[in-house]
Amino acid sequence: MEIIKESYLKDYARCPYSLHLKLKGINQPMLGTIAISMYFSIQKRKLLEIKDHNIGLIFPRQIHAGESLKTASEMSPEELSQHLAFKTAESFGNHLKGFWLINNQKYANQETLWLFESQPFQTANTIKQAGTNYFNFLSTHGAPALGFIDKEIVFEHKSQKYLVRIPSIYKRIGIIDTSLWNFNQDIDSEISSGLDKSALVTLRLLGLSTLLQQQFFRLKFDLTDSFESLRYQHFNCSRGILSETTRTQQDTDSMQKAIDTFINKFERNEFPPNPKHCSSCPYNSLDDLFEPVCRKRNPNERYPIPKEFFKKRNWRIEKEEEIVRAFIQNHEIAKLEGNQFQTLFPQLDLEKRMRKLIACASSTNP
Ligand code: SF4
Repeated sequence: MEIIKESYLKDYARCPYSLHLKLKGINQPMLGTIAISMYFSIQKRKLLEIKDHNIGLIFPRQIHAGESLKTASEMSPEELSQHLAFKTAESFGNHLKGFWLINNQKYANQETLWLFESQPFQTANTIKQAGTNYFNFLSTHGAPALGFIDKEIVFEHKSQKYLVRIPSIYKRIGIIDTSLWNFNQDIDSEISSGLDKSALVTLRLLGLSTLLQQQFFRLKFDLTDSFESLRYQHFNCSRGILSETTRTQQDTDSMQKAIDTFINKFERNEFPPNPKHCSSCPYNSLDDLFEPVCRKRNPNERYPIPKEFFKKRNWRIEKEEEIVRAFIQNHEIAKLEGNQFQTLFPQLDLEKRMRKLIACASSTNP
């Protein structure tokens, strides 16, 4: 392969069939939990749009503030906390929650899908806590290097090119990864994902050490290119927990084994499903025609559905009735024809009937 993207490795480790669907160009429906992670990632960057709170922003895209006109990366943690885009941790947390409560039905022009009715509300509380903790994290640890947040870098290792995403680089530390939840990403399906074992961490640190072979970056980040001296920290924003790990050359050997296995299977076109991960997979959902996006899904997993299906609706009723009817007939959930549909749950009104039918559909083998 000319270049291996870390996203391919991550997808393959979770479920090879999901990578097959992605490479076929099958659109991934938007899970609410993925949407909120993306939203949080963007908002974290907005918090770093520093300003002087007494006078506000002097000009658009302002990157300097304070008497000495420093950038966020140059400020001490105390100075930074005075100049972040929000004045207090609580105001940032409340802003995140408020926006998400109003806008959780759609993200990036896609309808978001949920597993249970109170899930959007629960995630709003999670993001409030995460916003508060992230503000406090910046006030204690300072800002990452600007221009190196979620930075994609390409590097070569043993004659193979890789593309990795570095969450953020901190001077004298290495990589700091701040996310909504626990760290559970890996590129090796053989071991359980966790910060101390993840081969993804090894690959990203390898990418950073390659970048540091250039003197400019060594000076900029005050780091050496010695792979074993670099640290990878993860901050679980919703719980406010900071963890740290490092890697040795031995770890690159086990990472290499996982990558060789991936290349081997990829080239042999082996993309078996791994139903262990269906519960959190975007392909475990229904398309616009109520057909399952992934035909190899674990049939016992519920489908996530749009929030409106849990609630009273007054839109697209006719269209949805048509879709639900087609879905029920296609999948023989009930042998219904014509107006039998109307009598399936006669005690319920149309909307409730549809919700009930969708609930049936969600727990039935397609
Ligand atoms: S729904 Fe399950 S089997 Fe299908 S791609 Fe996702 S994880 Fe794999």
